[in-house]
Amino acid sequence: MDYKKLAEMLFPDNKLTVEEIEKRYPKRNLPSTAYVTRFAPSPTGYMHLGGFFQALIDYNIAKRSGGVFYLRIEDTDNKREISGASSVIMGILNEYELTPDEYQLKGGVTVGNYGPYYQSERKEIYKAYAKKLVSEGKAFPCFCKKTEGLGDVQKLREKKFAVGINEDKDPCRNLTVEQIEEYLKDGKKFAIRLKTNGDGTKKVKFHDGAKGDVEIIENSMDAILLKNDLMPTYHFAHAIDDTLMGTTVVVRGEEWLPSYPLHKEIFEALGFKQPKYIHTPLIYKFNEKGNKIKISKRKHPEADMRYFDKEGYDKEAIIEYLMNLINSNFESWRETHKDADIQEFPFDGFKITANTPIFDFVKLNDVSKEIISHYSAERCYNELLAWAREYSLENVDYLVKDKEYVTKILNIDREKPKPRKDIYKWSMFFDLYDYMFGDPKKYEIDETHRKDFEQVLREYKKYIDLSSKDAWFAKIKEMAEKLGYATDNKEYKANPEKFKGNVATVCEYIRVAITGRKNSPDLYEIMTLLGEKEVLSRMAEFA
Ligand code: GLU
Repeated sequence: MDYKKLAEMLFPDNKLTVEEIEKRYPKRNLPSTAYVTRFAPSPTGYMHLGGFFQALIDYNIAKRSGGVFYLRIEDTDNKREISGASSVIMGILNEYELTPDEYQLKGGVTVGNYGPYYQSERKEIYKAYAKKLVSEGKAFPCFCKKTEGLGDVQKLREKKFAVGINEDKDPCRNLTVEQIEEYLKDGKKFAIRLKTNGDGTKKVKFHDGAKGDVEIIENSMDAILLKNDLMPTYHFAHAIDDTLMGTTVVVRGEEWLPSYPLHKEIFEALGFKQPKYIHTPLIYKFNEKGNKIKISKRKHPEADMRYFDKEGYDKEAIIEYLMNLINSNFESWRETHKDADIQEFPFDGFKITANTPIFDFVKLNDVSKEIISHYSAERCYNELLAWAREYSLENVDYLVKDKEYVTKILNIDREKPKPRKDIYKWSMFFDLYDYMFGDPKKYEIDETHRKDFEQVLREYKKYIDLSSKDAWFAKIKEMAEKLGYATDNKEYKANPEKFKGNVATVCEYIRVAITGRKNSPDLYEIMTLLGEKEVLSRMAEFA
């Protein structure tokens, strides 16, 4: 068969040659130790937690090696296109300071010399390579109906392929030039398939940055390279784009692992060298029954990265927590480097955890509390206001007007060697500190001691002294003693039955009357901020 003639018949208008294309994409001028990574989402209009996980790995591999991290939008499947998708993705990457070095905004700027960064704008490139493969007898046209994507025929083949059954050579392989000419004259659409050399009897081996050494059965499928709308499949675009754009490490979901042998064959057919791969595990969580389940967009709001923004999660905390999930040695490093910048962590992109990462809100919240506890009151105020400006407009005026008071609230038990760890997201602030803005909504009163509680509050009116913390506490002790509470803890522990309780019990009663809670930050600070008048009026409710 005259393959050159066939290639011209199929692509008469495609004059762009691969030589010309390759001139447009010179090898990147980087040291050999620098890695080039990319984040390559489909434009679904949102950023999945799992995608963000990959982008974080991409970013760290590239930036820590002095390389390049770029964003490529994989929009070859028109059905899934959502306009503005790239700005959502860019917005999130920017917020988390994972800004790519190269990217393109739809209808806007392009930064970088290896674009277009939208696959839909690279159609001519894919066609040129498809034409080349046809002209070399490595690919052929297929006129079957189900060639738009992974149709039923293809799916069936993939199933057989999975169990190593070698019956998947496409019948269109055997078409003669005359038959093809006929079809083309009739205006029939065609796809381009790879003419595989594999027969499914051998295995391919490679090293994966997360899975370790992997062995998979070779490809034996005449896989589709261009669909019959002449858009590339993921597989073909991966080989071409990652080569031309100079990617050296591909970080992608483990669902792509079974396609590795096909990718190997496509790269070989094109004469390209494969990059390194890191196939990241999917992120799971435990459901109420304690079973591990995939985090899915449909069921779990946290699948969408915007959720964390809406809730006012701290960005550093999210990064810190995900780092825990990425590198299993992160936690022990953090133990010994409490105040170190996360950039100092010896991140190793090729030691990504192979275990299933489990996303756990309790852990995330702990990490977040820890991080926020070290922020200054000023910083907390600014973060709270920034969050309110986006998601809690009704509170903005108040926050601006009463900046000083709010900052003081935020400063309770803060900027100290052992700061309080209570806030883990900004949306919880007004509930957590509701008693600073009005009467508590509910009271944790211990009904079995209701009488004692009321007695303390009645009596305390006479003892209240907010002039200094020492004076305040001395007065509480004085009253405690008078009412039969222990002021010496040792004595109390030795003979608890001799007392109604100790000073802590007394403080708890006062605390409940003022804050509604048995636990709160420093009571003296709260009382001083509220002022004597307000404190007395709250106590009057019970006495
Ligand atoms: N667009 C592909 C996806 O969203 C990208 C996979 C890859 O990173 O190569 O799954």
